[in-house]
Amino acid sequence: MLILVTNDDGIDAPGIRALAHAVRSRGEVMVVAPEGNRSASGHAITLTQRISVAARPVEPGVRGFAVGGTPVDAVKLALEQLLPGPPDLVLSGVNHGSNLGRDVFYSGTVSAAMEAAFMGAPAVAVSLAERGGAHMEEAAAFVAWWLDHAYRPLPRGVFYNLNLPPLGAGPPPALRITRLGQRHYLNEFQRQPPSGGRDWYTMAGLADETGEEADTDVAAVAAGFVSVTPLSIDLTARGTEETLAPLDQLPVPAGAFRMASPTPDTLSRTE
Ligand code: MN
Repeated sequence: MLILVTNDDGIDAPGIRALAHAVRSRGEVMVVAPEGNRSASGHAITLTQRISVAARPVEPGVRGFAVGGTPVDAVKLALEQLLPGPPDLVLSGVNHGSNLGRDVFYSGTVSAAMEAAFMGAPAVAVSLAERGGAHMEEAAAFVAWWLDHAYRPLPRGVFYNLNLPPLGAGPPPALRITRLGQRHYLNEFQRQPPSGGRDWYTMAGLADETGEEADTDVAAVAAGFVSVTPLSIDLTARGTEETLAPLDQLPVPAGAFRMASPTPDTLSRTE
């Protein structure tokens, strides 16, 4: 079994080291992750500069590479260049902090798993709803248990987003299979003192978890459950067919605009 472990907190973060340690006996494990903290980099890729790769020991018997790029860069490099073959599993995490609701659109942790799903690999993003690294060994041990007892293969293009509640001395949590909630942030910007002739802001904000329904990831973690959400790379909205079907193949009037030449350059990146 070939396992790629990645994250967005950087290759030296306690969460990724704990995760690599917890799964190292399952086969060949390789760690490929950003060299520093790239949280909230979403699905960004690096197009305008070279991307460095440096061997970085992470765990005895586990090869590691620090990538001078984003989490998605790291996954792409791993799958195209660094791994000896297609991975049987891609694990992203354990992230320092939860990735719930709309977080998934900003999260490098989730985007790394999503990129693996783009490339056809089974993938799991794992986040712990704590900021410090105090319980990362327990979180990683949970992932190992989950892989043995509660992991089911999903269709191509569908991947897991796991969120663990804050850990402590209480009884073990139960699993909840959830859907994505709506959590977002209020009052995101805080104005800072002007300096250097510029105004300054920091982005912070308070998570708004009001009105979440009980079957969402947000509600599950708030109630102390482990949230297991299947996410799909297909963002197409269902349920719009009736509204939009009459517009399918609607001709555009002559003169509205002209088509480009019939040889679009489909292989080059758009910026
Ligand atoms: Mn992070």
